[in-house]
Amino acid sequence: MRSTKRPSNRSNRVAQLVRPLVRALHPYVPGEQPKIRGLIKLNTNENPYPPAPRVLRTVQAAVDGRLRLYPNPSAEGLRAKLAQLHRCRPENIIVGNGSDELLALAVRAFVEPNARRKMPDAKWAKATVQYFTPSYSLYPVLAEIHGAATNAVPLNADFSLPGVADLKRRKHWDFNAALTLVTTPNAPSGRGYSRKALETLCQAQRGVIVLDEAYVDFADAHALPLALRHPQVLVARTFSKAYSLCFQRVGYLVGHPELIGALHKIRDSYNVNGLGQIAAEATLDNLAYYRANFRRIIATRGWLAGELTKLSFQVLPSQTNFILVRPPQFPAEIWLQSLRANRVLVRWFGAPEVRDYLRITIGTRAEAASLVSAARKILAGGGRIASTKWAG
Ligand SMILES: *Cc1c(COP(=O)(O)O)cnc(C)c1O
Repeated sequence: MRSTKRPSNRSNRVAQLVRPLVRALHPYVPGEQPKIRGLIKLNTNENPYPPAPRVLRTVQAAVDGRLRLYPNPSAEGLRAKLAQLHRCRPENIIVGNGSDELLALAVRAFVEPNARRKMPDAKWAKATVQYFTPSYSLYPVLAEIHGAATNAVPLNADFSLPGVADLKRRKHWDFNAALTLVTTPNAPSGRGYSRKALETLCQAQRGVIVLDEAYVDFADAHALPLALRHPQVLVARTFSKAYSLCFQRVGYLVGHPELIGALHKIRDSYNVNGLGQIAAEATLDNLAYYRANFRRIIATRGWLAGELTKLSFQVLPSQTNFILVRPPQFPAEIWLQSLRANRVLVRWFGAPEVRDYLRITIGTRAEAASLVSAARKILAGGGRIASTKWAG
């Protein structure tokens, strides 16, 4: 009884143990991972195809008494393989527990915390994380966690990249920002940016600039050479989406050894789990399998875009494994619920620039066909949300 006497006072006192910054924090909201059978999951940009059979066998064979040992602390074997793939040195590479971890490390290594309203401009720039909107919604969260300032600058209305001359004229962009994060190809719009446009931006930027290429394997072009050509440029890649390895959490950054070395200094000693290292290395030995899957996903992307266009969806051009679409007749949020009632899960973001859109992951051809059937049914039924019990 005693402990329930004044619960509100007590929980208030416990809350005081947490830093004010953390108490006020708006955490990142990941896409739903529901455990509903028969659900078609097109909401978190996972690859619909499993890892290569040889990757699965290699991971399975590694599950034995060795699990008691610490893994290689710097993912040496994996870094050597990645260096070979990208024609650079292992010193140019750091592997992380997903690229999310590396983005967080970059904020901690390059950005001053404790941004204050009245800082002089030069100090403010050193405490600034800069990014375009819309882009990856984790960026502002990482800045907030660190106590850094943010500079969110809108992309052009069609989600294309503003040119450097435009950015200079509009004055909102900070060419001295300590850290600039660019999602390329962009998420959630799916738009790709040319290497030339990115290089022009990188050359104008005096702080560190990370090109977050999480979806680049589904694009016509990539910008990796920029990380080896310009010392302030880092390129982020991940095994999650294109290489069907979200579960294992492996991502990496490529760049100048000075910046990469700074990140190595501040990471956890064993930041990449052993099975993840083994899975990622095996993945690099089976690239042909994955490249065939990229072609299938790109083909399905074209098919789905065509079918949805026929149903009067506005489909934005995509260089990724998802499409951003503006659905007809009903608000996007109603579409989200109606599709869910038809066992198809897609993603909707409430941010003003994208609230009229749905983001749809490209699944298998059969999954895409189910989505199209569900959309037809919803249009025929006037958008009503079926009151089925299954959704719980
Ligand atoms: C999914 C995603 C990541 C994170 O990838 P992980 O390696 O799984 O942490 C990073 N950036 C963007 C833009 C993403 O969409």
